[in-house]
Amino acid sequence: SAIFPLLGLNLNNLTMDEAISVMQRTLEEKKQSAIYFVNPDCLNKMVSDRKYFNTLKTGDYVFPDGIGLSIAGKMLGTPLRENINGTDMLPYLCRMAAAEGYPVFLLGGKPGIAEKAGQNISKTYGVTIAGSADGYFDHQHDSDAVIEQINSSGAAILLVAFGAPLQEIWIARHRQKLSPRVLMGVGGLFDFYSG
Ligand code: UDP
Repeated sequence: SAIFPLLGLNLNNLTMDEAISVMQRTLEEKKQSAIYFVNPDCLNKMVSDRKYFNTLKTGDYVFPDGIGLSIAGKMLGTPLRENINGTDMLPYLCRMAAAEGYPVFLLGGKPGIAEKAGQNISKTYGVTIAGSADGYFDHQHDSDAVIEQINSSGAAILLVAFGAPLQEIWIARHRQKLSPRVLMGVGGLFDFYSG
């Protein structure tokens, strides 16, 4: 089945190729999709955090991340086609974005981290980085300036790395004002690419 129901969520059970096709279609059709990933740690947070749970339910695509989710899928009768997490998806997403001409904006991490990660990601996958900003602005009061920076950059894809659940809640709260088509929560991904 293409849907894996788990704890009130409808997780998308796709291969990586299918997931990338979905992203590409969203970009071509000028639709907007919020993309989230859930691992066992996220599920743990979700059961005691109603706001996070409700936010995850608004995701257009929510992908199961990690061996724990694969085991749950097998036990509950929906064997997972592939483990889809942000780290594994990034190379495929960026190669598609490079080939199709979709610029990427990196938001999150400590000052300087997203910029450095952007340089490395651009060098490695050939994708255009539209811009970057750190994740330590005042999320309650200063988001509008950041949204303006993202929108004026011309980015088609926005990667938000505040960790869960901050990134999902920020995306859901601001998505209507954001012009990128693909909005994705990617956790500590930029730290990984900033070295
Ligand atoms: N972070 C941020 N703004 C915040 C809090 C955290 O940009 O207000 C960043 C932090 O610098 C780190 C990432 O969010 O890069 C969280 O990474 P973590 O590995 O904890 O997230 P997970 O992958 O576990 O969701």
